[in-house]
Amino acid sequence: GGSDRFNSPMRCEEEEDELLEEEEEEEEASAPRPVQIVSADEEEHSFSLQEEALERLLLQDAVQDLHVVVVSVAGAFRKGKSFLLDFMLRYMHRQSGSWVGSDDEPLTGFSWRGGCERETTGILAWSEVFVVEKPDGCKVYNLSQNVQEDDLQHLQLFTEYGRLAMEEVYEKPFQSLMFLIRDWSYPYEHPYGLTGGQSFLEKRLQVKQNQHEELQNVRKHIHSCFSNIGCFLLPHPGLRVATNPHFDGRLSDIDEEFKAELVNLVPTLLAPENLVEKEIGGVKITCRDLLHYFKAYMKIYQGEELPHPKSMLQATAEANNLAAVAGAKDLYNKSMEQVCGGDQPYVSPTELERRHAEQRQASVRHFRSVKKMGGEDFCRRYQEQLEAELDEAYANFSKHNDGKNIFFAARTPATLFAVMFA
Ligand code: GDP
Repeated sequence: GGSDRFNSPMRCEEEEDELLEEEEEEEEASAPRPVQIVSADEEEHSFSLQEEALERLLLQDAVQDLHVVVVSVAGAFRKGKSFLLDFMLRYMHRQSGSWVGSDDEPLTGFSWRGGCERETTGILAWSEVFVVEKPDGCKVYNLSQNVQEDDLQHLQLFTEYGRLAMEEVYEKPFQSLMFLIRDWSYPYEHPYGLTGGQSFLEKRLQVKQNQHEELQNVRKHIHSCFSNIGCFLLPHPGLRVATNPHFDGRLSDIDEEFKAELVNLVPTLLAPENLVEKEIGGVKITCRDLLHYFKAYMKIYQGEELPHPKSMLQATAEANNLAAVAGAKDLYNKSMEQVCGGDQPYVSPTELERRHAEQRQASVRHFRSVKKMGGEDFCRRYQEQLEAELDEAYANFSKHNDGKNIFFAARTPATLFAVMFA
């Protein structure tokens, strides 16, 4: 969320000081920060994926195979997303009774870069990876991201997509959606928090005759698309938050009532027992899979118009097949590394071929067992792609293996020489 809120003029001057910037560059490269993973080109009305940045995030060894939880906060510009995300970051960093911080502690995080930049569009993700152990022992990775500009039109696209997706897999396509209503000022009608939110939402999601047809449709489909829909009413944070340009996020400037609700809201979203692992077509996806989905969806977000729900469905099918190919190939590579990887001794070619056949079969079996969309013929094409890639990988493994054969290598005099003196 681009914002100029948490920046005193002094901070801006500092940032303009190039010398200082150079000195700090290295340090800043590794300091936790928001990273742009999708950027918007407003003139061309298109979005582009910052593939390398996303790969650095999702393909880290420690997380790429873990199930992912995606927590995204969407909303129009200057609607308090960064402010909320910064409190969410505090919770993720501390996760203890007093996570909310001390009275005079400035907020940092997404607002940190707000600086002199006026506005950021696209998607920002937090550069840190939070690995969380769930109460049932599963580990999940959690990514906070900040999406600008959603509106009912988007929601409609997703519900329409959801409807199509459900024809194919009988699962609700989306998981949790929480509406967060800021500056709620009718607590006597619906009280602050989740319960008030729930009754408010029920009222707002009622379908009425005089509504525009599209609005009626969103209301009709929304429940069938999300496994869980909630609403939270948050009070006004107080005038210092809303109007003071020098406000830096410290709690002492925030209304008590707001703080009281905030300490309920954040754990409702982020406590380990409340985190929902991302599922697509009923299958939990890993960080590595998520990368494939990002790539596939970005392709269809190129044109000026919103993508057709059908093309989103197609992209989903493509992505989950590609993700299954990647997972199956990884399985093959890891087992073959143990048989004939860099640290392993030479293996006889017949033995190697036998092991390859075994692992190839296991890999294809794995691919077939993963639930995928697109139908049998469509998936068959990806299976063929997998098989071709496995054969190629085998050719490489066997070339390396041959290189370890001392008798074979020793046929060239230079190597013989080396062997004699070894
Ligand atoms: P973003 O662009 O959506 O990330 O918005 P920011 O988090 O930068 O907030 C925009 C402005 O709204 C800042 O001046 C905040 O201090 C203020 N703000 C944050 N939360 C609230 C809220 O709940 N109510 C009101 N009225 N202002 C808020």
